[in-house]
Parts: sequence; C-alpha cells; structure tokens
Amino acid sequence: MTKPKPLRRSLDSYTIKGTDKSIKPGDCVLMRAPNRSKLPYIAKVESIESDSRGRNVRVRVRWYYRPEESIGGRRAFHGSKEVFLSDHYDVQSAETIEGACVVHNFKNYVRLASVGNDDYFCRFEYDSRTGAFKPDRVAVYCTCEMPYNPDDLMIQCEGCDDWFHPSCIDMTAEEAKKLEHFFCQNCSSNEEKKTQSTQHGSKNSEAKVDNKRRRR
Ligand SMILES: [Zn+2]
Ligand SMILES: [Zn+2]
Repeated sequence: MTKPKPLRRSLDSYTIKGTDKSIKPGDCVLMRAPNRSKLPYIAKVESIESDSRGRNVRVRVRWYYRPEESIGGRRAFHGSKEVFLSDHYDVQSAETIEGACVVHNFKNYVRLASVGNDDYFCRFEYDSRTGAFKPDRVAVYCTCEMPYNPDDLMIQCEGCDDWFHPSCIDMTAEEAKKLEHFFCQNCSSNEEKKTQSTQHGSKNSEAKVDNKRRRR
C-alpha cells in the first residue's frame, strides 16, 4: 500500500506573522535576508500554499534584485529605491516575510507626492544569469547624457523639453528651484535669434528685447 501524498492547499491570502496585514498573490513583500544585517529581499508573490491543515505556509516568489545585487553593480543613475524584476523564482517559508511593500512602475513612482519607506520602483527586467537588462536602452538626459535618477533634482528646459542637473549647467539646486522659467544654453541662443528676426511691435518681443537690454 502506498501512503497518500500530503495534500497542499493553495491559499488566496496570508496574514503576515505578527501583523494584521494580509497579502495576496501579485503583491510585493520584504523578506528577511539570511544575514540579518543585510537589507531585506524584495519579491513578488506568485502563489501561496499550505499543508492540508492550513499550516506550513509557503510562498512561490519572483525576486527583485537591488542594483548592488546585479552583476554590473550600482550605477550613478540607479535610484535608491530602484529594483529590477529578475527571472529568478524561489519557494520560501511565509515566515520569512517581514512586511508588504509596493513596487511602482517608473512613471507612477516619479509622480508620488512623497516616497514612503515601502515604496520602490522598477523600470528594468534583469536576467540573473547573464546580467542583461530589458529594455537594454533607456532615454538619457542632460549634457551628461545619463538616464534619469529620480533621486536627483532636474529642471526641464521649456524650449526642447530636455531635463538638466543643476550641477551640469553651473547652477546650485537652490538657484534651480527658484527659477520660474528655464531655457538651456542651446535654446536660449535660438531664442535670441528668433527675437532678432521678429522685432516688430508685439508685447512679447518687447519683453524679450527688454531682457536683452538688461543683460548688457
Ligand atoms: Zn547632468
Ligand atoms: Zn533646451
């Protein structure tokens, strides 16, 4: 006679030990690293299951990697709350879950009014074997031609819509914050040309000529 296999039950949710917070498949969680002095791991919960009596809960997770855990390491444009969605799956005891977190897409993250402890963002998928990223190209900004790091203050040019780090255009962050209008070097020389060719009458061009006079 063969013993029946212990049945595993799939669960719709799990209440994080020591909290009243419950998580469901699809949610993101912080999981205790084996080395307690390390930052918690971040994972997306794929599924939750227990034994037939509802005990011994395990979660199947897909890991997010922090930039320092990637083969290429942390780069200047990586945000402090940036993580990469990896192709690395695992099954872990639900007891290692420390808390829930939110991994935003990049667009939503940069629109957050304030970034909480549990807010992260992801703009790249990461191949844990090769260290490759998807997408492998990303828009670059400023005279330094770097991808956007949402931790850094940038100002947008009203002419070309490009973004600039104050330090790359010889400005302090304080000066940049006070600006009501900003045109980068390229666009301000274009503006001057336009002003010179349309110096007739309209209020607008008077204002621009004024500006020029003041600059002398
Ligand atoms: Zn720059
Ligand atoms: Zn510009």
